Amino acid sequence: MTENNNKPVVNLISKPENMLKTVYTACRTCYSADYPINIYNSTDDEEKMLKLIERVISSGHYSTIEHIQVSFAISNVSRACTHQLVRHRHMSFSQKSQRYVKEKGQFDYIIPPTIERNPELKSKYEDFMKEISKMYCEFTDAGIPAEDARFVLPNAAASSMVASLNLRELIHLANLRLCTRAQYEIRTLVGMMCKELVKEEPWLAKYLVPKCERLGYCDEDKSCGRMPVKQ
Ligand SMILES: Cc1cc2nc3c(=O)[nH]c(=O)nc-3n(C[C@H](O)[C@H](O)[C@H](O)COP(=O)(O)OP(=O)(O)OC[C@H]3O[C@@H](n4cnc5c(N)ncnc54)[C@H](O)[C@@H]3O)c2cc1C
Repeated sequence: MTENNNKPVVNLISKPENMLKTVYTACRTCYSADYPINIYNSTDDEEKMLKLIERVISSGHYSTIEHIQVSFAISNVSRACTHQLVRHRHMSFSQKSQRYVKEKGQFDYIIPPTIERNPELKSKYEDFMKEISKMYCEFTDAGIPAEDARFVLPNAAASSMVASLNLRELIHLANLRLCTRAQYEIRTLVGMMCKELVKEEPWLAKYLVPKCERLGYCDEDKSCGRMPVKQ
């Protein structure tokens, strides 16, 4: 059984100290005759910086937010969830290997809340995980390498990774995966990643939102009704 009540564990492990100033310098450099280093060392107040950044981002000048790279330590998420996350091609990943890390005894797994809430189905689910674990151990005990024995492991198997991405990709990730159309686990995970960063950089809160909040409308086929649907 997995730790921490079945929820992802997310920690921000790396980010630049001067995030706002770096983005501001990138934005301002585009429109200024001054050297970037003078802009960086200027005493422009936060309100002025935020106003320019908003204008530049709103006009789609996204290279200015690619200078910021952040890294997260992530654990207690299912392989189903990490498989969705690794579809984001501008992210970098280092994931716990099912080839090099042999499971010893019951492997950790995630239980979706819909199953968690149903005691009868939850019990069947847990029994099935035990069965899989038994088969996995039977294989590895018989000398089957972990890289082959893992073929019997389910999407539910828990995984860990370090994931890094720049601010442009994080905003894109948030826009897609905080949408109620995204699956619950990746939505929870991305929500926690955003929350971790916003704790340290509150000015990012307005960008790390589902896409409908930035667009002002919903462009999904099946809308949750939170925003008017695009006509
Ligand atoms: C609600 C939801 C349901 C989904 N359902 C499915 C599904 O049923 N089946 C499935 O296979 N996937 C599904 N996906 C995954 C989806 O198709 C994308 O693979 C995933 O969301 C990554 O998005 P992306 O390509 O925009 O982002 P990233 O890979 O993070 O790329 C960011 C942006 O970079 C640009 N870019 C990146 N690579 C290229 C490229 N090669 N060419 C041109 N531009 C590029 C694009 O503008 C892209 O939006 C789903 C995603 C969501 C959010």
